[in-house]
Amino acid sequence: MAWPTFNEASPGAVRETVPPPRLSWRTTLPELRERPVTELPGVGPRIAAALGDLGVRTLADLVSHYPSRHEDLSNVKPISDLRVGEKATVVARVVNVKPVGRPVRGRVPGLSAQLYDGTGYMPATVWGRGWLLNQLVPDTWVVVSGEVQRKYGLQLAAKSIEVVDDPATLGESAHAGRFVPVYPANKAINARRARTLIHRGLDGAGRILDPLPAAILARQNLPNLHDAIHEIHFPSDRDCLKEATRRLVFHELFLIQTGLAARKARLEKTETGRRHRGDGRLLNPFLKALPFGLTGAQERVIGEVLEGMRSEKPMRRLLQGDVGSGKTVVAVAGLLSAVESGGQGAIMAPTEVLAEQHYLSISAALKDLPVNVVLLTGSQGAQERRAALEAVAGGEAHVVVGTHALIQKGVDFHNLSLVVVDEQHRFGVGQRTEFKEKGVTPDTLIMTATPIPRTLSLTLYGDLEVSILDELPPGRKPVDTRAIAVAERYEAYESVAEELEAGRQAYVICPLVEESEALEDVRAAEELYDELVTEIFPERRVGLLHGRMKAQEKREVMAAFRSREIEVLVATVVVEVGVDVPNASAIVIEGAERFGLSQLHQLRGRVCRGLHPPKCFLVADPKTDDSQKRLDALCDHQDGFKLSEVDLAIRGEGTLFGARQSGMPDLKIAKLLRDIDILVEARREAFELVADDPTLRKPHHRPLRREIRDLLGRDVDWLFKE
Ligand code: ADP
Ligand code: MG
Repeated sequence: MAWPTFNEASPGAVRETVPPPRLSWRTTLPELRERPVTELPGVGPRIAAALGDLGVRTLADLVSHYPSRHEDLSNVKPISDLRVGEKATVVARVVNVKPVGRPVRGRVPGLSAQLYDGTGYMPATVWGRGWLLNQLVPDTWVVVSGEVQRKYGLQLAAKSIEVVDDPATLGESAHAGRFVPVYPANKAINARRARTLIHRGLDGAGRILDPLPAAILARQNLPNLHDAIHEIHFPSDRDCLKEATRRLVFHELFLIQTGLAARKARLEKTETGRRHRGDGRLLNPFLKALPFGLTGAQERVIGEVLEGMRSEKPMRRLLQGDVGSGKTVVAVAGLLSAVESGGQGAIMAPTEVLAEQHYLSISAALKDLPVNVVLLTGSQGAQERRAALEAVAGGEAHVVVGTHALIQKGVDFHNLSLVVVDEQHRFGVGQRTEFKEKGVTPDTLIMTATPIPRTLSLTLYGDLEVSILDELPPGRKPVDTRAIAVAERYEAYESVAEELEAGRQAYVICPLVEESEALEDVRAAEELYDELVTEIFPERRVGLLHGRMKAQEKREVMAAFRSREIEVLVATVVVEVGVDVPNASAIVIEGAERFGLSQLHQLRGRVCRGLHPPKCFLVADPKTDDSQKRLDALCDHQDGFKLSEVDLAIRGEGTLFGARQSGMPDLKIAKLLRDIDILVEARREAFELVADDPTLRKPHHRPLRREIRDLLGRDVDWLFKE
């Protein structure tokens, strides 16, 4: 008798290669990530492609394609009961439907449907849903929500219109019941189909095991993942929906925080920094010579920075301080402490204008001290640049001032021990500057004047120490800010004329043209400049500054403005960050509706530094609600932290990180402004867990490790190497 052979023909071998049954009862998110949506009945290539457009490719994507909201059908009213002014939801059948508005590029902007629900007829108009036109054939059941208005009789100004099953089957189907999920949809996947698919996906997935440690769930009183996912789609009631949301928000934030905590632990273990031992021989005379006393906040933050530098752990500190809060002094204190300890300090600015200004003010402040300050910019002549590079490499240069790009690009330092990054607006995990100098990691101080809400800084910068300058130098006057219609812009210039009359100076900022049209930008700037020179201020000295000018020209213009030779500076956004001319007391921003909120706040910051009550004019004809809101916010608030929250609220958080920009995943469900409490808890739990198990190697932490890896990508692999 021959032994069975396991060659290709043998049935045994074939059985070996057959995948296990698909609908296994227990599953994990990583397993679901391996299963394409085409596995579901009824999902062919066409539907799969449409789902792909929504970012849904696998069963894991599908079950985490969370509803954007739920329609509460417990509030449905019969048409005959509707009153003017009331917000209501009706379930009715379509009698007929027609497009409204003029088509734009072949698209119907809105539609108007005649509805009948057995108690009465009512027309409903809804904008932005023109593409539903063909789906709303007569007799389709729809759920419509909106406001009842009087317009040739009553009509429903609808915010939403969704196709539903015959309500006779209410409660049975995924589409109706007390809470019906409404999904981000597109033309091919309407809300109804999305519901069906997700219902099937949840059925097909099986029991989803929870990667979060049970102890944390118990402590935080959170439902398990499986229940939360089911409840967020098809909630049993309002409370369950709330708990499910809380759980999934926690989940998302906890993973990110654990990644950050692991990163911090890893860096602390593997890197050695320099133990700075400043003796104050440079710092004390510098502080003493300042023409002002430090604010309490400056004193505190300088203390924090020096403390961080004394430790052997490499310092990674984020300094947040509003425009004009005096961050430069803090930076110089750190730099001097580095020099006192025999190291070199570098300060990097985002623009050449700013680098130049730092160079001028820092070398002036240090002129009586034995500190050699060197400038390094792209526009230096070859010879000058070579001399600077040599001084940096040889160690004769103590403090190096340059632009971000320049210093990051492989300049050879003799002994770099502190890097200050000034005016860093966006700085994520992925692209954080990592300086490695002969085995020693220099300390870093990242300064930003675009304060971000605390929630956001915890999320984005969760592995950095944070210092906050929450006090402005005394005597700062709030900037009197006014929004002015374009037709009235001469009033703004009349007011500026008064400032000039009193011997002060002003900025006029040109409207922002598309970035890609830099030449357009220059043309707009030149036009505005001509208008000012010939019509508005013919008797004043007006200067022009834009991005396309040669560095030398820019330098001369800035010098002339500083020395008051130029009284009015017409500029593009090149002055956005950090430029400091205290005698300037007025700023006019033309085309203000085109700027972002933080940009406007930065620009306004140019005039809050002097002793005179400053003025800011936002010349704008806002065309959208959002731009109106931005202008209102600026007129109402001076505080950059407050403004950054308003900004976040206006912009929404969907595009907040931009994964490429920051190395952070976009948030799917957490809303940072809303979920601060959950974030704080998630962060605490994450750091505790990592303190106990830095590489997540304990068996019950493994699923968590896998989740983080799937969320944050390969970049985090090094965190978990044993
Ligand atoms: P920012 O935080 O926006 O970078 P700067 O460091 O440029 O602010 O400081 C803004 C202005 O305030 C500068 O002219 C600076 O000399 C001045 N300044 C800084 N600290 C103080 C202080 N404690 N008292 C008075 N003026 C100060
Ligand atoms: Mg600054």
